[in-house]
Amino acid sequence: MSTDDRGAAIVTGAVRGIGRATAIRLARDGYKVVVNYRGDTELAQAVVAEIAELGGTAIAFRADVTDADQVGEMVSQAIDRFGRLEVLVNNAGITRDTLIMRMRDQDWDDVLETNLKGTFLCCRAAIRPMMRQRYGRIVNLTSVVGLVGNIGQTNYAAAKAGIIGLTKALAREVGSRGITVNAVAPGFIQTRLTEAIPSELQEQILKQIPLGYYGTPEDVAEAIAFLASPAARYITGAVLSVDGGLFMAT
Ligand code: NDP
Repeated sequence: MSTDDRGAAIVTGAVRGIGRATAIRLARDGYKVVVNYRGDTELAQAVVAEIAELGGTAIAFRADVTDADQVGEMVSQAIDRFGRLEVLVNNAGITRDTLIMRMRDQDWDDVLETNLKGTFLCCRAAIRPMMRQRYGRIVNLTSVVGLVGNIGQTNYAAAKAGIIGLTKALAREVGSRGITVNAVAPGFIQTRLTEAIPSELQEQILKQIPLGYYGTPEDVAEAIAFLASPAARYITGAVLSVDGGLFMAT
């Protein structure tokens, strides 16, 4: 497939951090990118403008990933505008960190709803057109925390571990239709999500990273772009860590 023929790629939560870097990276590969956002239209338009400056094509689409109707509308728009939906990157995510004793029901529900149910809703909406075209690439953002846990993140760890289960189950369901489903597990990446970590804790984390530095959103975007590419056709149900060696699977 030449890059000119590439269809749409939806990236959820694409106005900042890893989502933004991924939207720009996929546009460089020739995908027509749907820059999903839930609130900040100005930031979304800025990402679209940046992609246009690079010679790519993108539209901004406002949808809350926890709302099935809005997600369905986003998938329809992607297909109406660009013909084929080839890539879905489930990146939108939130944290509500606190020790379990202090965790409110709302903290639990919000994190599970956005990270896990949002991923489910987007996968479900995308899978029908991908099955029809017998081609698709789904990449779900999990986390090193979903693999090894973390103090103060029982809700987030449960959601991210859930995403790994969802990824593997869906990979089995749709493998025969030319659709791959994989997960990327970032370690500590410099974004808004990790800015809030106290500096002493940041020092401790740094000591555990064999490469000795935090990753950038672009580091994660590279791994996502590979799994989203036609070249990754024989990889499905995999969890690719992008963490400087923080977590090494045995
Ligand atoms: P950011 O907080 O920088 O970006 C997350 C994006 O998701 C924001 O644009 C946010 O929108 C959007 N979002 C949140 N809820 C919704 C929703 N309901 N509907 C649509 N969009 C939504 O996070 P990162 O870039 O750091 O993280 C991206 C992904 O990578 C997340 O899934 C995260 O869990 C995962 N990850 C990140 C790590 C890191 O070290 N940074 C480590 C491991 C995993 P808004 O701007 O409106 O808030």
